[in-house]
Amino acid sequence: MGSLVRRLRRARMLKRFPILEEAWRKALADHPILAGLPMAETDRLRDFAAIFLREKQFEPPPGTELPEPTRLSIALQATLSVLSLGYDWLGGWTSVVVHPAEFVQRRRDLDSAGVVHEWNDPVTGEAHPYGPIILSIEDVEASGWGDGYNVVIHEIAHKLDMREGGTANGCPPLHPDMSRAEWQEVFTEAFDDFRSRPPRRRGGRRSRIDRYAAENDSEFFAVLSEYFFEQPGTVLREYPKVYGQLAAFYRQDPALRLASRR
Ligand SMILES: [Zn+2]
Repeated sequence: MGSLVRRLRRARMLKRFPILEEAWRKALADHPILAGLPMAETDRLRDFAAIFLREKQFEPPPGTELPEPTRLSIALQATLSVLSLGYDWLGGWTSVVVHPAEFVQRRRDLDSAGVVHEWNDPVTGEAHPYGPIILSIEDVEASGWGDGYNVVIHEIAHKLDMREGGTANGCPPLHPDMSRAEWQEVFTEAFDDFRSRPPRRRGGRRSRIDRYAAENDSEFFAVLSEYFFEQPGTVLREYPKVYGQLAAFYRQDPALRLASRR
């Protein structure tokens, strides 16, 4: 579909299915990470969230319905990530599969000796290349409070990461004014440093960032994206160069925005 047609269709849709004032006000109050968002950007977020609610298909467990505030919470946190990039960055997939709580995924792996290993993995969210994102409602409800944890922003970060070739490698498609070499250098240095830190306080510099970030490059990018929006001061203090790259990529400066609120 041409972009003009899409724009016109979305403009019509926004008139017909706006997010109502009361629901929007409540959603803003329930997500402290949105504090300090200028009026024009708040309006854009509201439009993006309305488009998300219409264009994405929510798939709750059979026989259940997803409460409106939960849908809105997912929509606004997903679109916050692309607020300065444009809604089309969320294109190419349609489904948001929702589980009530942490869910178990059956994993299967073939090792170098040809042995198949299978195990059950409890997960809070997943992002499939060209496919759905999967979220646990319990974890959606724990997101957006400013404590660094955000399952929606995490899975959307994987989606943005996968926009290049369908694989998540910790480097989303960068803008023309950014350097891939610089991104790699900054993230590799920070990742190596993070992995070398002691998991608990044992005299070394302990990070406030969740240990899950040490898993691999793509998890590091996704977890750092969570902190970037949830607790930007932590990224700015611990990895200022990573903060700079994330600010250049997301084209947002949440540390400044949240500080201006205080
Ligand atoms: Zn992840």
